[in-house]
Amino acid sequence: AAAPDFLLSVEGLTVSFDGFKAVNDLSFYVDKNEIRVIIGPNGAGKTTVLDLICGRTKATAGSIRFRDIELTRLSENRIVEAGVGRKFQTPSIYEDLTVFENLEISFPRGRSVFGALAFRRDAAVSERIEEIAEMIFLKDHLAERAAFLSHGQKQWLEIGMLLIQDPELLMLDEPVAGMSVAERRKTAELLHKIIVGRSVIVIEHDMKFVEDIAHRVTVLHQGKVLSEGSMERVKNDPKVVEVYLGH
Ligand code: ADP
Repeated sequence: AAAPDFLLSVEGLTVSFDGFKAVNDLSFYVDKNEIRVIIGPNGAGKTTVLDLICGRTKATAGSIRFRDIELTRLSENRIVEAGVGRKFQTPSIYEDLTVFENLEISFPRGRSVFGALAFRRDAAVSERIEEIAEMIFLKDHLAERAAFLSHGQKQWLEIGMLLIQDPELLMLDEPVAGMSVAERRKTAELLHKIIVGRSVIVIEHDMKFVEDIAHRVTVLHQGKVLSEGSMERVKNDPKVVEVYLGH
């Protein structure tokens, strides 16, 4: 059994699509305050693992324990409420709204006695929005319509929209795809800033970026862990070299 202080314990996780095991008896553990990067060739099962954790895909077998909660039994919404945030590759921001408004509508709602449409526009909310905007390098863009942001700024805004909900586990699917070198550097800086008090799982192909951010790397291959550890370790693992360079 896993040590009790892992934030996330994935054990024996399996999902079959028409008999094909995209994730096959997978186990891995993510610590608190850890940035874990999942790498692996196309079709290795990386996206499916994130889909399973966020409840978009249901496991055929195995368990996903987050804090002391079994996620495999929960709906996608309940998993969000439990403190898991997921960013997909394509940004889902509201282009017609300003940066401020995008952050504002992302505040957790439904717990308010005023119902789902009651925005809590008060000083504490504005303060939190400004704090997040500063973190995601958009403090000077709060009044700007999201449509006018650069590709990189849109990605940061979406991360900000997730941070507003204060997730304990944040999952990012190729966050720096399409970004400039400068934007990649700032994204690495952003991840190091937000890691305090939470854990992050990132799927990434850009090895320079992986080196900049990863505390640990999990290499997936055919739905299983091929190698795991520091970037230095997995990079020099002959099994990894073989999978990446072919036979
Ligand atoms: P990666 O993200 O590492 O590229 P994926 O998790 O997207 O890999 O896919 C792993 C394997 O599972 C692939 O062979 C893919 O075709 C298959 N797969 C993923 N989702 C489905 C699905 N909903 N139905 C059938 N096959 C799927």
